[in-house]
Amino acid sequence: MKVGFELHVTPLTESKMYCDCPTKNAQPNLQVCPICTGQPGSKPMAPNETALRAGIKLAKALNCTLNESVSVMRKHYFYPDLPNNYQLTSEPFGENGSFNNVGITEIHFEEDPGQYDPKSGLVDLNRSGSPLLEVVTEPDIDSIEKARDFLEEFSALLGFLGISQKIKADTNVSINGGARVEVKNIGSISGALNAIQYEVNRQAKEGAVLETRHYDKDTMTTKPARLKETVADYRYMREPNLPRPRASLQAKNGSTTYSTT
Ligand SMILES: [Zn+2]
Repeated sequence: MKVGFELHVTPLTESKMYCDCPTKNAQPNLQVCPICTGQPGSKPMAPNETALRAGIKLAKALNCTLNESVSVMRKHYFYPDLPNNYQLTSEPFGENGSFNNVGITEIHFEEDPGQYDPKSGLVDLNRSGSPLLEVVTEPDIDSIEKARDFLEEFSALLGFLGISQKIKADTNVSINGGARVEVKNIGSISGALNAIQYEVNRQAKEGAVLETRHYDKDTMTTKPARLKETVADYRYMREPNLPRPRASLQAKNGSTTYSTT
């Protein structure tokens, strides 16, 4: 088996990534402003400095090479919890790291969407625009034990650095060189390990196609979510209301590839 992770870390900050709205819990839709609800004419403010510092600290601890200057991109998709119909996501600011004998492909910033309840149809935008750090690993993990060691050490590192205790672990699993299946919606280390075990057994029985599946923590199984988008589907473009990188660095960053999630 081959396993890699996309780890979403919520850094501890007082306010959101591109506006001054507080991040602390409140009644639904009270921690919002024109920026994080995507009102026409609103523009992002300069990124949250606490989040940027947390990201750089984490990239250094993961032994990444730091890129001196990166652009912020719009990643387009439609979902009821995403009022702009795009998510601001940075180019990787750290690359080619390693941690606990697992390669770290890259680390970049994202903003969290709001929360949508498909049953009631209600949307809460309090979380919309909150900072996220996404760490993408190489598929270097070949056993459940290694997956557990890595996630526990990563979680301990976040605590030690004082960045966060909140991580979600999208998990990519393939067996015998087959198609890569991405499992989303995993909110705990035990959930990630259960999802890996379930997928290894399922793929051995049914085979695998390139797809995204959702983890159901009540049944400890995974269910098909949707066919996987490609990078082209997201129509990435640079956010025109934030400064562009200095000219000398643009050529270097021109070849950067974007995460597909
Ligand atoms: Zn706001």
